[in-house]
Amino acid sequence: MEKHVVVIYPHPDDEAFGASGTITQFRQQGVPVTYLCGTLGEMGRNMGNPAFANRETLSEFRKQELIDACEVMDVELRMLGYRDKTLEFEERDEVAEHLKGILEEIEPSLVITHYPEHAVHPDHNAMGAAAIEAVKRIDESKRPKVWAQAISNNHLELLGEPDVVNNVRPVFKQKMQTIMAHRSQAQGVLGKMKDDPEAETDLEAIAMERLGTESFYTWKFD
Ligand SMILES: [Zn+2]
Repeated sequence: MEKHVVVIYPHPDDEAFGASGTITQFRQQGVPVTYLCGTLGEMGRNMGNPAFANRETLSEFRKQELIDACEVMDVELRMLGYRDKTLEFEERDEVAEHLKGILEEIEPSLVITHYPEHAVHPDHNAMGAAAIEAVKRIDESKRPKVWAQAISNNHLELLGEPDVVNNVRPVFKQKMQTIMAHRSQAQGVLGKMKDDPEAETDLEAIAMERLGTESFYTWKFD
């Protein structure tokens, strides 16, 4: 059993779509989970459907959605305060040291983050790389495992099969609640998963098909 799990992603909702089933399963086992969320996603394009946020108010909405989502998952939340869409321009070294300090305080047994270069968005790649660098700087005897999440289209081809494959359908209700807590984002992101945008398909059914499994690669430090 894990001692403590730390999840590191740049945007509010990355955790919901990517790992909230796994997080819920850890919480059901009584494992403490902390989410280090890099930004408030304030540069996002989704403003709700129908729109209820605008460029000025989006960060406040997303902050509250993030807090609500963490309440659904029953995890501790720490907001790191970086600016959305600029993480790739932050000094990797500084972000890694910042994360290392927090990891040394929490002493997790497992860190979940994005797989650098296989996480599609520059913020995802930058945060994943900084997280892995942070873990690498921790003395080997105290170093937590890292589960890296790849979401690029060609990751299976280039990385092979992920070694951690979690079936999260048994907790899909909670996963859906976590996703829906991100009210300004949920409809927009789920809607894009429809093959036929006109089809009257149940979003939850689409989500189950696309998000019912959460996979990770155990990072190999050399
Ligand atoms: Zn994201």
